[in-house]
Amino acid sequence: MLALLRAEPLRDESLGPLRERLAEIDARSLIAKPSLWLLPMHGGQWSNAFALASTQRPRVLLSSSLLEALQPEEVGAIYAHEIGHLEYLTGLRIRRLQLLEIGLILLAVLLAPWVGFSLVWPFVVLVALHLIGKRKRSWETDADQRALELSGDAETCIRALVEVHRLALLPRRLPHVSEGAEIHPSLARRAQAIRRLAGSSVDGVVEEVVAGSSIDSRLPLWMHGAKARTAILLENNRISWFEGLETDSVEDVDPQALSASTTVQSTRYRDLVELRVDRGLWGAPVLVSIAVNGTKRSFPLPTDVTTRLQWALDVVDDQLALESHRGRASSPSEGSRRRIAAVLDLS
Ligand SMILES: [Zn+2]
Repeated sequence: MLALLRAEPLRDESLGPLRERLAEIDARSLIAKPSLWLLPMHGGQWSNAFALASTQRPRVLLSSSLLEALQPEEVGAIYAHEIGHLEYLTGLRIRRLQLLEIGLILLAVLLAPWVGFSLVWPFVVLVALHLIGKRKRSWETDADQRALELSGDAETCIRALVEVHRLALLPRRLPHVSEGAEIHPSLARRAQAIRRLAGSSVDGVVEEVVAGSSIDSRLPLWMHGAKARTAILLENNRISWFEGLETDSVEDVDPQALSASTTVQSTRYRDLVELRVDRGLWGAPVLVSIAVNGTKRSFPLPTDVTTRLQWALDVVDDQLALESHRGRASSPSEGSRRRIAAVLDLS
C-alpha cells in the first residue's frame, strides 16, 4: 500500500519541533514506536493520517499537507489518535480481521458459480463494510480517548480535529437521524466526548483561534433571521427564537423588556439532540434544531452570519443531549463494552 501511494520514510531529523512532541507520546504509549511514513501531496490537499496495523511492523502515515497545515502539538494529537488505533489493533485482533477478509473472499468464490461473480462481489464488499464499519465507529471513540490520555490536552485534540475537518471541507455536525450510521462520529460529538472525558467544558467566553484568525464566539449571541422581525438568541445554557420583533437591531435588545407582541420560545441545549446549520430550500442556510422528544424547528438565516454562528455552536455543543438518548453508546465504559462485544462477535 505504501508503495502504491509512493509514501516515503519520514526520518526523525526532518521532523523539527515535532520530533520532541512525538517522542513524548511514544514514551507514554503501550506499543513500540511505529515507523513513520510521509505521503507527499505535491500541492494537493489531503490532510490526514493513517494507522497501518501489522503484527510485524506497525506504521503511521502522515500526509505532507497535514504537517504543513497543523501546529506540531496538533500533529502530535493526531499521531496520538493513530497510536490509539495501533495499541488496539495488535496480534490476535489483526489475525481476526485477516480471517474475516479471507472468509469473505472464500464466500465470494463459493457463491460465484451459483449467482455470478458480478452479483456476489458487491454483496461481499457490502457485508465487509458493514462488519468493519460498525466496529470502526467505537474504535474511533476509543482512539480519541487514547489521544487525550497520550497528549494530555483536550483542547489541542479538538483543535486538531477541527482543523482536519476544515481542510477536508467536512461538516462539523451531522443530521441526528444519520449520525449513528456514520463510521466516524461527527466532529461536534467527538469534541463533546473529549471534553467530557477530560472533565473540561467551554463556558461563556471562548476565543477560538484557527488558521491564524480569531473568531469571537462570545455568548449571549443575538442573530437576525432571514425573515423580517425574527431573531435567535444563544445564551450560555439555552437558545430562544423570537418572532414579531419591533426593532431591526437586535444586538441591544434586553430579552426581559420585549413587548407583548413578540413571540418567544426557549429551549435548554440539554433538551436538544441536534443544533446545526443546514441548507434549506434553494441552498439558503437554516438553523435546524431537534429536541429529545423529536420536535424539529428550522430557522432561516441570512447568508452572512454562519461563520460566527458556527463558532457559537461549537461553544454550546457540549451541552446537547448525549447520543445515548437514542440508545447509542457514548460514554467510555459503554464504548469499551461495545468494543469487547465486537471482538467476541468476530470469534
Ligand atoms: Zn481514527
